[in-house]
Amino acid sequence: MSGGGALLRVEHLKKEYPGATPLADVNLTVNEGEVVAVIGPSGTGKSTLLRQINQMERATAGKIFFRDEEITAPGYRVDLLRQNIGMIFQSFNLFSHLTVVDNIMAAPTALLGLPRQEVYDRAKELLAKVGLSQKALSYPDELSGGQQQRIAIVRALAMEPKILLFDEPTSALDPTMVGEVEAVIRQVAESGVTMMIVTHDMEFARRISNRVLYMDEGGVYEDGTPEQIFGNPQREKTRQFIRRLKVLTLSVASRDFDFIGCHTTIEAFGQKNDMPKDVVRSLMMLFEEIVTQLLLPRLPEPPRIVWTVEYNPKEESAEVAVQYNGDAFDVMESGNDLSLRIVRGCTENVRYQAEAGETGNRLSLTVRRIKKDFP
Ligand code: ADP
Ligand code: MG
Repeated sequence: MSGGGALLRVEHLKKEYPGATPLADVNLTVNEGEVVAVIGPSGTGKSTLLRQINQMERATAGKIFFRDEEITAPGYRVDLLRQNIGMIFQSFNLFSHLTVVDNIMAAPTALLGLPRQEVYDRAKELLAKVGLSQKALSYPDELSGGQQQRIAIVRALAMEPKILLFDEPTSALDPTMVGEVEAVIRQVAESGVTMMIVTHDMEFARRISNRVLYMDEGGVYEDGTPEQIFGNPQREKTRQFIRRLKVLTLSVASRDFDFIGCHTTIEAFGQKNDMPKDVVRSLMMLFEEIVTQLLLPRLPEPPRIVWTVEYNPKEESAEVAVQYNGDAFDVMESGNDLSLRIVRGCTENVRYQAEAGETGNRLSLTVRRIKKDFP
């Protein structure tokens, strides 16, 4: 693979810590002018990735190229990189003993050796752009969190970097200040600066980026446009993450499995995810009817049942998938009338499908809140 318009290229990057390997094999390219949102569950190595790109830490294996030059090569001058790659952290990291304008001027004068007047003029110009001209002589602790983060962005921009990395830039802020910081980030994006932004805010990611990387399983698990990733994710984990689904899986592999334990697990899952009580009750009832009344008497020895619940908090609905072994048979066609009535009574959209595999029978159903239409 070779450069083209690539500003940044990461090849087979691996990062191991004692006790954790957040990055197993990361491959990605960021092209000039792209605004890349990086999303994924916490602990999947998003911050670790930015620290490797920024060379704050050395990778265990793999290579990173900036404009076709390998920055992970031994002897590469990291101070050159500091001019090209700017980073903004969750906690603003301003120097508390320096005024705003001195914070902004520190790196350009020290690292680039530019004349003070030139750097000062540029600092004032950038401050005006983010609406903070009047704060030039203030100290960081005289500013709000939102103002400090805007200054941190200006400080990074003062180096005229080729790419800006943001690690959760708004997640330490009071909610009332998120908007002003996002507006500044959007303004910088529109000016054509290449960016990688790690964020938990899906709405923000969707609005600001023209590309989204979903990180999971030690690498870039899915890569696409915001329309693709948020509108039509292709892979299972992306889909679950995007829809904020809460997933519970129970396995039954014996006729004398721990029934009480399964009930307790479903109850705890419901509590943890703030599920409406009637949905939890329906889930427990379904498990009992389908597993113990309808399936276990019919399944071959040993039985195999995989019970998956995906709870969607927005809709307050749960999707249940029941996979089971044995010859193809639709459990909803079986004889126990009372159990079938109970199942139908608390579900909708019941589908059966025979697929390949050991647990090739698959029953899917949806559980919704019981609507109370009368007092
Ligand atoms: P994310 O930003 O996606 O939430 P991180 O990159 O912060 O994830 O962390 C990924 C994993 O690596 C976590 O399990 C974390 O505990 C571990 N980790 C991160 N930094 C270090 C470190 N300096 N030493 C040991 N483990 C670390
Ligand atoms: Mg992080």
